[in-house]
Amino acid sequence: MKQSALRNSAPPRNASRFVAYVATITVAAVGVLLVSLPGGFPSSLPAAFWCFAAFAILADTPWFVQAGPDDVMPAFPSVCFTFAVMLAFGFAPAVLVQLGAVAVAAVWLKHAAWRAAFNAGQYVLSFAAAAALFDVVLPDQRADVHTILDGGMPVLWIVVVGGCWFLVNNLLVSTAVWLRFGGRWPAVFKTALGNDALPTGALLLSAPGLVATAYVDVLLVPLALVPLFAVRRMTKLSLQRARAARLDPLTGLGNRKALERAVANWVPEHAERAEGGADDRRLALLLLDLDGFKQVNEALGHRVGDRLLEEVAGRLTGAAGAGLVGRLGGDEFAVVVPHLRDTLQAREHAAGMLAALAEPVLLDGLPIDVGGSVGVAVYPEHGGDFEELLQHADVAMYDAKARGDNLAVYAPESDHNTPERLSLLADLRRALESPEGTGIELYYQPQVELATGAVVGLEALLRWRHPVRGPVDPEELIKVAEHSSVMRLLTLRIVDEVINQLAAWGPAADGVRVAVNVSVRDLHTGEIADRIAARLRETAVDSSRLELEITESALMADPRRVLATLARLERLGVAIALDDFGTGYSSMLHLRRLPLAEVKIDRSFVLGLATDPDDAAIVRSMIDLARALGLRVVAEGVENERTWRLLVEAGCDLAQGWYFARPMPPAQLIEWLARRNRSTVAHSA
Ligand code: C2E
Ligand code: CA
Ligand code: CA
Repeated sequence: MKQSALRNSAPPRNASRFVAYVATITVAAVGVLLVSLPGGFPSSLPAAFWCFAAFAILADTPWFVQAGPDDVMPAFPSVCFTFAVMLAFGFAPAVLVQLGAVAVAAVWLKHAAWRAAFNAGQYVLSFAAAAALFDVVLPDQRADVHTILDGGMPVLWIVVVGGCWFLVNNLLVSTAVWLRFGGRWPAVFKTALGNDALPTGALLLSAPGLVATAYVDVLLVPLALVPLFAVRRMTKLSLQRARAARLDPLTGLGNRKALERAVANWVPEHAERAEGGADDRRLALLLLDLDGFKQVNEALGHRVGDRLLEEVAGRLTGAAGAGLVGRLGGDEFAVVVPHLRDTLQAREHAAGMLAALAEPVLLDGLPIDVGGSVGVAVYPEHGGDFEELLQHADVAMYDAKARGDNLAVYAPESDHNTPERLSLLADLRRALESPEGTGIELYYQPQVELATGAVVGLEALLRWRHPVRGPVDPEELIKVAEHSSVMRLLTLRIVDEVINQLAAWGPAADGVRVAVNVSVRDLHTGEIADRIAARLRETAVDSSRLELEITESALMADPRRVLATLARLERLGVAIALDDFGTGYSSMLHLRRLPLAEVKIDRSFVLGLATDPDDAAIVRSMIDLARALGLRVVAEGVENERTWRLLVEAGCDLAQGWYFARPMPPAQLIEWLARRNRSTVAHSA
């Protein structure tokens, strides 16, 4: 199973210590046997003994042993019979039967000789400890139906002796696991105890019952195999369930949880190795996002899309080597690569992943190109846990896209996430996840038609009052959110709220459209278009009443995907405005290529219109250019009457700014509109 691949690929934490430990256990066991076997046997062994011995050996065959590939330590059911032998006939017969069972299991399960030797030793020592305690608490007693049923052998003592066996056994095994695979010893021991308590506890505690049964009628003993078989089925099912919870059902890769666990297992081990001076102590998280997957899905259908993902999963797995490949959802994959020398090697791995996708995928005879972008974050330089690494790999991936590249290693300079901003982000996420959206509000700022003075549009602007910090600057907030997955939640919330508001206003705001600002990230997938289409349908709000404002930087990041989303929005009937016009680089090109309805002249030019001749010249030519291309022109940042008059002269269509109104909450806006209507009516009367 892939889950364990990461663990097994790890070199033994300390091979020589592990070998020494196994050797010590084996030698100690041989010593114990030499001392206690001679003279340890009763003069005669009844049918019950032979019956237990036969079943002990039968019980350690694959019919009863769950030795799935997911299993680090299979539980061997023979112990219920051998423990019964110990209670009834003493240490020596019990341990001999157990050794027989271990030998049979080793053959069945093809265990290496050292492993069989260790298992034998571990059982000998567990039985030796339990038998010694047994002799102390119940001197010269042997269990039979009378001692058990008459209370001559209190069950409490049997439980104590069983507990001793269980503790010693787990101590020996988890120390071996710890020496081989690493981790923190107390944690390994605790996990082993927890996992083993129920199955082995149940086996040990069934021993007194077996003894009693055997004395009533030996022929009843085989009935004990039925519960054993049931226990095996149950452990198998629960293993399957546990595995399914860590798997992506479509591709069979690990899911987010599996990756998280792989990192969580590796990190503490690394801390120790680093102390030991090992140099393979870096782990990389590679985050890969496919290009153009959405289009494949839309054009060729989800079935083809699924097959593409399966093919990609296969190629990534092939290229991952010792890495663990997982799918985070949609077309996002991640790879955890352990034991790296340095960041350079992580980068090479990432390049290898991209190379694996270079060949087009052939689906139904159709070659499909599946490039992608990879962001790389390396432990410990770029993060101390899975969450942090993922977040930084995400930042790196967007960096790559923004540069028009397909690979980037996380560079802290390009990350704007100071600890303060990260905590702000976490608070915002919490606010968004709470149903009432604590403190998140939209204000609306009117847009006025210069020719008539009528209010024809509103821009929705985010306001967030942080419970402790108070109002947060929206520009600052967007800058932080834009680099994270919180942006998606935020935009979807804003879209919902604006459309609900439009539905609620109804005729009161008839003919007025509302513009929503969207950021770079929102346009990378078609999700926003899906959401808008669904909400418009549900609320019966006309699509012409909604508008989206995008900036040029949104286009630079990933023009192909953004264009696909914009084209869909246009088909829906939602107008697109180019915001902050004049501040980007390639304005002319965008004006021609994009499905735009409107440009908004950036307020930095409009603010200087009345005082700076250069600004005035720029604003006038922008207006001319936009009008020549048949686009509506909005001037933002109109703060005074003089600017307003100059814009009227220059032939600008709409204006927005403090001269008319500041952004307002909905209730205040309705009052403002009513007042304004009254005064316009009064003027014209
Ligand atoms: P923007 O899209 O350019 O929004 C216009 C900004 O100009 C608003 O700032 C508005 O309050 C301000 N403004 C309006 N009239 C005047 C004026 O006469 N003079 C001056 N000096 N400023 C004026 P705000 O609300 O602080 O928003 C800042 C930026 O934050 C916005 O710039 C936009 O980029 C971003 N933003 C705000 N709300 C959202 C949102 O819901 N989603 C996204 N993605 N971005 C948003
Ligand atoms: Ca805007
Ligand atoms: Ca703007």
